[in-house]
This record gives sequence, structure tokens and C-alpha cells, in this order.
Amino acid sequence: MLESAKEGLYANLWVIHARWYYISAILLLGFLANFDQTRESGQVLSPFVLVALFALGLFFNFLFYLEAKAIERKGLFTRVKVLAISQIATELVFLTGIMFAVAEFKTIVPVLFFIPIVESIVLFDRIGPTIVSFLSSFLINIVLIMGVFVFPEQRVDFWPLFLTNTAPITVVYIIIGFFASSLAHLLKGRGQALIAQTEEQATHVKDLEKLNNELKKKADELYAKDVELTLANQRLQTLEAAKSKFIAVTTHQLRTPLAAVKWTFDMVVKEQLGSLNAEQKEFLQKGYNSTQRIIAIVNDLLNVASFDKIEGEQMNFVPVKFLDLLNSVVFEFTNQSESKNIKLTVLKPSKELPLITLDPDKVRMVLENLIDNAIKYTPKNGTVTIIIDDAKINTVNPSIDVIVSDTGIGIGEEDQKKIFQKFYRAANAVQFEPDGTGLGLFIGRDIISKHHGAMWFVSEQGKGTKFYITLPVNQPKQ
Ligand code: ADP
Repeated sequence: MLESAKEGLYANLWVIHARWYYISAILLLGFLANFDQTRESGQVLSPFVLVALFALGLFFNFLFYLEAKAIERKGLFTRVKVLAISQIATELVFLTGIMFAVAEFKTIVPVLFFIPIVESIVLFDRIGPTIVSFLSSFLINIVLIMGVFVFPEQRVDFWPLFLTNTAPITVVYIIIGFFASSLAHLLKGRGQALIAQTEEQATHVKDLEKLNNELKKKADELYAKDVELTLANQRLQTLEAAKSKFIAVTTHQLRTPLAAVKWTFDMVVKEQLGSLNAEQKEFLQKGYNSTQRIIAIVNDLLNVASFDKIEGEQMNFVPVKFLDLLNSVVFEFTNQSESKNIKLTVLKPSKELPLITLDPDKVRMVLENLIDNAIKYTPKNGTVTIIIDDAKINTVNPSIDVIVSDTGIGIGEEDQKKIFQKFYRAANAVQFEPDGTGLGLFIGRDIISKHHGAMWFVSEQGKGTKFYITLPVNQPKQ
């Protein structure tokens, strides 16, 4: 509603602007008419009258201009229609006045009524231009009739003049009126469609702005959360460091006395301190095994405590006789395997192995864990076989495979995906051997990957497990 009222105001302003030009054009036409030799009356149009009319036209137009500006300034849009009607009405009266004043009936003055018709197309909808056309033809004829009677000296015959001049003008104006009204309607329709479109777009823009604001809010919230998280993360890191330090210190303190206990058990079991009966031997063996377990757990804890260090740490690579390293690890487990009557075998390659570049302490840790797991998760009377496969020793990138194979409890399909995760232990393993940390494999795989090797496994629950390690013979130069 407001939009169409504004449109109406701009239409009025457009007409007011146009009027400055055509009033001047009409003044010029008035002056030129005096040079027209074909004019019948020969009457001279007084320049004074012309200028007076011109001034009057300017004055009225100025009044309209002031009113339009007042409407615009104060938002009095209800006065738009009144302004439009006043403009057209004044113009019609003015033109009628001119026609009467010049007392010319065969001049082009009637044609000037075309102007208010055009203006009414701009100012009104359908019915307006029709009314203005009718009014124009009506006024032209009234002036004509009055002219015949008021100026008898001109001896103008009504009928010929009517038939040749005003009647065709009337007909033309009526036809124009109809066209003008449909043109006005068409233009207004288009205008309104455009307004509707603009309004729709404005709503879209508003929606987008709203969305944009919401997004900004969300981004701010996210930023705040991010800051919060960063702080929380920093706190966690501090706590984590404190925890690692605590574990490292305590486990370190535990390791030495535990080793002493283990070797004491070992000496007693091996009857180096005197003979034992079968029952004593069995109990002491259990004591030895348990100590071995605790040492493994403490080792795991120590390793994970220094895991962060391992992550950033360079491996201490040296060329190593791999079989010697493996044998010394296996030797550590003879007691443990014997106590469960597990057959612990090492299958070596027929050819001698070249020196393998590795970090012996770290690889020992990995091997210990794999062999320990194999014995730990294999029931009594089972077998644990360690195979060294040198099939890839003569390839472009020479490497060896170490396979630790057991006939133990195996790993279920679901657990297989998580077995390398920190602290993860499968339910069957927990049930079979409650002691354990779920850290060995997690640390082991990291160490092997730092050797540019690989670690994986194949397992079937209830049947057994094979853990594979690939170790390259040479490490890339650092
Ligand atoms: P831990 O042995 O202390 O639990 P590990 O990281 O060495 O920790 O092993 C993680 C888990 O992987 C074990 O808890 C067990 O579920 C499974 N696992 C590892 N080795 C074997 C194996 N040889 N046989 C069956 N399960 C195994």
C-alpha cells in the first residue's frame, strides 16, 4: 500500500518536471503562431497575454511541486490522489482558458489536450485516462459552441467546424481514452508486479541477513568453545605430564626390588640353594611366574610413561646380530614356558643373517611383549613358535620377518580391530589372564613403525594367533 502510494508521488513529481518543459514549449508555440500566414483570423496573440499565461502556469506548477515535496517530507501519502486530480483539473481548466482566450478554433490548441491524457496514464489506473479523455473532448466542444456565440464577428459556422474539427478530435480522444486507460492499467500492473518482486527480494535479503547473523553468533560460540577447549587441553596436558612422571618414578622404584625377588625365586627353583620337594618347587615356580608378571606390568607402565618421549625421540639405531638378541629374549622365557609345559621353539633360517640396523633396547621390548603374550594367552601344554623368515633378504629393500605363533585363546573378530589401541584388552584375554595393561601392542607397533617396518597379526579365536613383524635390514640415512 505504502509502496504504491510512493509510486503515485513519484508519478506526480515526474508530471511536474515534464510540465516545466512543455509550458515553455507552448509559450514558444504561441509566439510562433503569429508568424503563421495561413491563420484565418489574423488576430495577433499578445505577447503580454502569452507571458502572463506562462507565468500563471509556472506559478501553479510551483505550488504542485511544493505540495509534492511536503507529502514526501511528511509522509502524507493520502494527499497523493488529491494532488494528481488537482494537477489534471487545473491543466484542463487552463487549456480551456487558453483556447477561449485565443478565440481560435482551428488552431492546434485542442491538440494540447493530449497532454493531460498522457499525464493521466502516468497518474491513474484504468478509469482515470478515460474520464480525462471524455472531459477533454467535452471541454473542446463547449468552447467551440461558446466561441460561436460569444464571437459572432468571427462568423464561424458551427456545423462545418464541428464536422471537420472538433468531431474528429472528440472521436480520436475517445479512442485514445480507451487505449490510454488500458495502457495505464498495463503500466500499473507491471509496476505492481515489480513492487511485489522487490518486496519478495527484500524479504529474501532479510532472511539471508537473519541467517547470516545466526551464523555469526554460532561462529562466535564456536570460537568461545574453541578457546575453552584449548584451555582444557592445556590443563589435560599438564595433568598427563604429571601422571606420566608419577608412574615413571614409582615404577622405576619398583623394578629393582622386583628383579631381586625374581632372581631369588629363580635360584631357589633351580635348587642352587638346596634341594626342594615337588610341592615346594611348584609353589616357588608359581611365585617366580607371578613376579615375572608383575615385572611385565611394571615394564609396560614404564614404557607408556615414556611413550610421549618415545614419540618425539629418535631411535638409537645400531647394527645388531638379530639372532643373538632374539636368543637372549627367548632365554628369559624358558622358566615361564616350562612352568606351563609350553613348547617354546625358535626356527632359524638356514643361511646366516646380515647385521640388522635397529634399536636393540626397543626391539627387545617388542619381542618380549610378543613372546610374553604368546605364553600368557596359551593354555598349558600348548606351543609357541618363533620363526625368522629371511625370504626378503635379497630384495631391493631387504628385510626379515619375525613370526610369533601360538596355539592359544586367539582374538575374536570384533576385538581384532581394537587390539592395538591403548589399554585395550579383549574379554577372553581378561578372563584367561586377569593381569595385563593393554599397552604392549600399542607401544610395540609404534616402535616397529619407527623402524620403518610393520606389525600385524592373524588370529582365530580358540585356535591361536600369529603376530608378524617386518624389520628392514637397513635404516634410511638420517
Ligand atoms: P596385555 O597383554 O597386557 O593385555 P597387550 O597390548 O600386549 O596388552 O595386548 C593387548 C591385547 O591383545 C591383550 O589383552 C589380548 O586381548 C590381545 N592379545 C595380544 N596377544 C595375544 C595373543 N598371543 N593371543 C591372544 N590374545 C592376544
